[in-house]
Amino acid sequence: MQPIPLFDPQSEYRVLRNEHILDALSEVLDKGIFVAGPEVKRFEAEIALLTRTKHAVSTANGTDSLILTLLANGIGPGDEVITSPFTFFATAEAIVRVGATPVFADIDERTYNLSPAHAEAKITARTKAIIPVHLFGQPADMDAFAELGHRYSLIIIEDACQAIGAEYKGKQVGSLGHAACLSFYPTKNLGGFGDGGMVTSNDDEMADRIRVLAFHGMGKLKYYHEAVGLNSRLDEIQALMLRIKMQKLSAWTKRRQELAQRYTNQLVQLNDVILPYCDSACSHVYHLYVIQVPDPDKLLLHMDQHGITTARYYPCPLHLQQAFSSLGYKVGDFPVSEKAAEHALALPVHPFLTDDQQQYIIDTLVAFSHVK
Ligand SMILES: *Cc1c(COP(=O)(O)O)cnc(C)c1O
Repeated sequence: MQPIPLFDPQSEYRVLRNEHILDALSEVLDKGIFVAGPEVKRFEAEIALLTRTKHAVSTANGTDSLILTLLANGIGPGDEVITSPFTFFATAEAIVRVGATPVFADIDERTYNLSPAHAEAKITARTKAIIPVHLFGQPADMDAFAELGHRYSLIIIEDACQAIGAEYKGKQVGSLGHAACLSFYPTKNLGGFGDGGMVTSNDDEMADRIRVLAFHGMGKLKYYHEAVGLNSRLDEIQALMLRIKMQKLSAWTKRRQELAQRYTNQLVQLNDVILPYCDSACSHVYHLYVIQVPDPDKLLLHMDQHGITTARYYPCPLHLQQAFSSLGYKVGDFPVSEKAAEHALALPVHPFLTDDQQQYIIDTLVAFSHVK
């Protein structure tokens, strides 16, 4: 058996290469327009269509999408933004980058997503926004967050970097808050051949401000700047590649869901493994299939010895990161996040995993469980 990777961007490329992706690339290169050209415009329109939003503004990456959305809403020093401590570092990094203070609240034990009740308990007069993260591909409880946003006049920003294509109560991720941030990092469900990002929103003014800020704060008049922004753009090559890949997204998502269902069916027999919980209000796009086991490092090693790559997501919750030590959190502050961080392990669930490979992963895992 060949080694089994956790992600497989090479196979994605192989499929696209057979579909003349290089001819399309050469056409774009021949045109000589490399940033903010027609491919980017088309890709933005397609993302708006997919997410069923009015506006999609491209950026250089998912982190910039978060930073730009915060800036566009005037969030900065003195402001607090509530988010989950069990997410990728960038979610909270963006809050600090604009000068605001991240305030963590614990997660829901079953979905791993920010708990609306815990978030509400952290709202103060300084709170300006909440960033629920659709972790591992499952939408957060967005009705509850919309209600909090309404009641306390807060901006709700979806960190949808892991969940493109997921649905919540029949609505698309990306359309569930005031704005949503997407990433096209190569290993994401829709990944480019490099970095890329997008912000989606139904708010005309917010989308406009984000577009201006992403381009050095330059308004309609060239070389006249209305604000200090940043340089955060998507280039034509990435947009073209992503447009071609996007045609595969729904098939690839279906394959992820099929694999997830098969894992769940077969692993349910193991009594020391906690399986992913899928909220019936949601469709889960399984960016990652994450289980909890008593000793994830030991299982990781066992799987690795059998040529299977697994990984811990995320071993250190954000409130315990050295970079955030000045925020003053300590062990025990968010017990649900800490338990998840201690026990979570992601199994390969990428769309190019074959049935045989998956069966081998399952058998290897089951054998490990029986040994103990
Ligand atoms: C990947 C990711 C980001 C950052 O996206 P980049 O494109 O890598 O900057 C932010 N939040 C979450 C939850 C992510 O998974």
